[in-house]
Amino acid sequence: MSTPTIKTYATLNSQRVMRWRLFLEDFHPMFHYIKGANNAFADALSGLPCHDEGEEVSASRNKPYTNAADMSQQTSQTFSIIDEPELLQCYLNLPDVDHEHPFALDYATIAAKQLTDDRIQALLITKPQSYAPTPLSEGSPDVVCYHQSADKLRICIPDSMVEEVVRFYHAALVHPGRSRMLSSIQQHLENPKFEATVDRVVDSCEPCLCCKPPGKGYGHLPARNPITVPWYEIAVDLVGPWTMRNSDGNDHEFMALTIIDTVTNLCEIVPIRNKTAAHIGLLLENQWIARYPSPKKCMYDQGNEFLGAEFQTILQRNNIEPAPAATKNPQANSIVERLHQTIAGSLRLLSYAHPPRNEAEREDMVNTALQTASYAAKAAIHSTMKLSPGAIAFGRDMLLNIPVIADFEHLRNLKEALINKNLLRENRRRMSHDYQPRDVVYKLVFKPHKMEPRATGPYTITRAHTNGSVTMQLNADTTERINIRRIKPSKA
Ligand SMILES: [Zn+2]
Repeated sequence: MSTPTIKTYATLNSQRVMRWRLFLEDFHPMFHYIKGANNAFADALSGLPCHDEGEEVSASRNKPYTNAADMSQQTSQTFSIIDEPELLQCYLNLPDVDHEHPFALDYATIAAKQLTDDRIQALLITKPQSYAPTPLSEGSPDVVCYHQSADKLRICIPDSMVEEVVRFYHAALVHPGRSRMLSSIQQHLENPKFEATVDRVVDSCEPCLCCKPPGKGYGHLPARNPITVPWYEIAVDLVGPWTMRNSDGNDHEFMALTIIDTVTNLCEIVPIRNKTAAHIGLLLENQWIARYPSPKKCMYDQGNEFLGAEFQTILQRNNIEPAPAATKNPQANSIVERLHQTIAGSLRLLSYAHPPRNEAEREDMVNTALQTASYAAKAAIHSTMKLSPGAIAFGRDMLLNIPVIADFEHLRNLKEALINKNLLRENRRRMSHDYQPRDVVYKLVFKPHKMEPRATGPYTITRAHTNGSVTMQLNADTTERINIRRIKPSKA
């Protein structure tokens, strides 16, 4: 704010001017004083004829309502929230009404436009038994209706009003889907163009595209080759929270970090103190990198604890390539799911037998439950590979002192078959769709909050790749290569 502005406002301090000031301050205006004699434009503005609000209100006070806009302008002796047009907007989601865009369902307007509509005028002549002017309410002109049966009639909407009516319904019913909107409209209104117009309005409505759940995925996912080298790729994830009850009846919540080698399926599970990127990174270093051959790639989902700078620094320091995933790695996910069950089971057992009496006992118990689950996951036979993850990783059975030699080529084939089976299942749920350059798409938001939009955009595709990803233009200078799991087309 510049000094002259403050001086101007210092002399004008009524409530109304203060409000103007609040509105204007958003734009950081600079004020300059121009003498009235030199300021012909401002003078001209004040000389223009305009409606005086007060006059109009008193004139309309005794008029009956003909449409919803009148209703909002009516005044009465007592104050009502519908007297304030801005407040009314908060409650009803009706489109704005003005001289050029009158209330869409006003009988008088419909009747007037029916007179100039060729289709309706022709129907009146060719099918007089079904189409006839019908009185609908007192004080309004007769409206041409389609008499479907003796007790069911539908108002004939002129072609010129179809778009307006559809947009009105879409706004008033708060962005319903295609079929719900069409049945709401066709309950009382008739026009053969409704179906096509509803399709067009719904398909091109930006709030709908951003906020509706994405539904089925579009575009089939391509096959991928499994990695066959152990200690090459790990998947990290957070699991929990679990709650544990102390002997004094207080509940304690805790979460854990899982680190899984995606080839051997060997896993480590570590209790965490908090979800900061620094803490999670430290645990990865201490609990995995310090123990096992260094991985080359690390997969993680879009959680802040993994995207955070501190976690990324630790990956960089260890020369590990970050691999942020669109969705969870299905294989690591099935291990995590099994871990979940084992952990919950052993926790229940432990806390039932000896409820922890203090903080130290509780911590021990949590650690025991987590490591029991981790051990079980290492020692149990994997259903596809017919070997336990521990045996593959260490070349020795986890329980008996017997050497085990893993045939990685055979494991690769088994894994490939499993991946293809899962892919087939996933693609069965997806719609066939070909993304092409210049297509418009929306980017799905990862784990959106309840009130958050489901997608952002629209963005234009600049390249479509064969491995199930596309490059899209985020803005003039930025492009993003993204998996088709994370986008949806603007028009199906
Ligand atoms: Zn919409």
